[in-house]
Amino acid sequence: MGRIVHCCAILPISVKKQNDMSNTITVSQIKEIVQQAYNEIKSNTSGKNADYIPFLANIDKDLFGISICLMNGQTINIGDTNYAFGIESVSKVHTAILIMQQYGAQKVLEMIGADATGLPFNSIFAILLENDHPSTPLVNAGAISACSMVQPIGDSDKKWATIVKNITDLCGSAPQLIDELYKSESATNFNNRSIAWLLKNYGRIYDDPDMSLDLYTRQCSLGITSNQLAITAATIANGGINPVTKVQAFNKELAAPITSLIATVGFYEHSGDWMYTAGIPAKTGVGGGIMGVLPGVMGISSFAPPIDSAGNSVKAQLAIKYIMNKLELNVFNGKQVHIVD
Ligand code: GLN
Repeated sequence: MGRIVHCCAILPISVKKQNDMSNTITVSQIKEIVQQAYNEIKSNTSGKNADYIPFLANIDKDLFGISICLMNGQTINIGDTNYAFGIESVSKVHTAILIMQQYGAQKVLEMIGADATGLPFNSIFAILLENDHPSTPLVNAGAISACSMVQPIGDSDKKWATIVKNITDLCGSAPQLIDELYKSESATNFNNRSIAWLLKNYGRIYDDPDMSLDLYTRQCSLGITSNQLAITAATIANGGINPVTKVQAFNKELAAPITSLIATVGFYEHSGDWMYTAGIPAKTGVGGGIMGVLPGVMGISSFAPPIDSAGNSVKAQLAIKYIMNKLELNVFNGKQVHIVD
């Protein structure tokens, strides 16, 4: 007993263990660890804003926020968590869920795939290597293909409304298009145009290629906050029921396959390193956002514009990793997590 008190005196935030396979954490411990992560990482200056999309180069590089949403709908937010930044590739998760909902998980596997590419997000080589297959809806090729699959086929306006409604259900409030980002990205997305037409050549675009690319570009240009992304991640962690609004955003059977896609390729060519060090399936975007799904426990998100060479936010990675490691949370450690007030 004396030893435990001594230990707690040294480490004010210690994770209480009932036994080796159980991890009980209080909400105030989580808040303190999030604050510590924020304080430690805030002044980190590594990485650089994405500049291949001109609009993103001019976003304030010092913006930084961390958000968590628990399974009871309680949210924890520190920093710039209400700033709407470009969702970019994080939106690939939302639209993957939409087509899984419309077609079923098996069809998505057949029409797009569920494999890691091990290559950058915008790789054309990956399409050729996979013998015409886009591999996964979480890289550009698969995401453009996913937008082509969104029903109703042939109707751009209705498809767009369906995409936005799905994102709204997942995050509990409507995202707003950042018009300047959409224009900037549309004017410079030459590589993605090649991908769309290469997929058409291979029969992997299931609607008009230009329309599918435009929907993809538009969804990437939606403004989202880290609070909204934490709620999306919590909805996935909660089997499809948004813990804040209680809306059922998707069927619970889809929670495992979508989380597996996120784990497999969420960080592109750095996905293995990420899972090894952070232990949480997470998806990144070049706008600086990352959202992580800890099944049955929480959704977590962080946002900071400067990214690394693979397009993943440097500070958001550090923040999520810090919190996971300090709280001994890890999808692979086999521990039952109990969060108490
Ligand atoms: N819209 C961006 C692109 O297609 C998204 C990339 C990303 O966030 N990794 O290049």
